[in-house]
Amino acid sequence: MSAPAPFWQTKTLEDMSREEWESLCDGCGRCCLHKLRYEVTEELGFTNVACRLLNLDTCQCTKYATRHRYVPDCVTLTPAEVRSIDWLPPSCAYRLLAEGKPLQWWHPLVSGTPETVHEAGISIRGRAVGERHAGPLDHHLVDWPGKMPRPRKPSPPKPASTSKRETT
Ligand code: SF4
Ligand code: SF4
Repeated sequence: MSAPAPFWQTKTLEDMSREEWESLCDGCGRCCLHKLRYEVTEELGFTNVACRLLNLDTCQCTKYATRHRYVPDCVTLTPAEVRSIDWLPPSCAYRLLAEGKPLQWWHPLVSGTPETVHEAGISIRGRAVGERHAGPLDHHLVDWPGKMPRPRKPSPPKPASTSKRETT
C-alpha cells in the first residue's frame, strides 16, 4: 500500500494547521529582502538588502516570535495575504501552492533537510547585505529575488568509505 500524500498536496492553504503552515516556509530568506515601491508607477524594485533581523548565514529571522516589536511592518502571512501581495518570490512555497504548483526537490519538506535550500542556491546565503551596512537601498537594486531561481543540481551522495580500521 502506498504512503498517504503529504498535507501540502491534499490540503488547501486555508485548511492547514498552524504547524503545517509554518513548516511550509523553506527558509530561503528572500521575502526578508527590502523592496522599493515607486510612487508614480507603483512598480516594485527588489534589493539585496536584508532586514536587520535576518541572519545572513542561516537565512532565519533572529527574533521570529517577537519580531513585530522590532519590525512592526513585518507581514504575517495568511492565505489571503499570499493570494493578494505581489512581492512574494516566485520560488516561495506559499506562492507556489497558491498558484497550484508543486514544491520542488530542494524544499525541506520534500528533501527532509533544511540544507537543500542553501545547496540548491535558492536561499539568500552569500548574496545579501545587512541593512545596517548597506547605505541607500536604491544602490542595491537587483532583479534575482523576483525571478524563479534555477536550482543547482543536488550533490551526489558521498561514496561509502572503503577503508577498514587496521587491527594490530
Ligand atoms: S520567501 Fe516564502 S518560503 Fe522563503 S522565507 Fe519567505 S515565506 Fe519562507
Ligand atoms: S522581522 Fe524577521 S521575518 Fe520579518 S522581514 Fe525581518 S527577518 Fe524577515
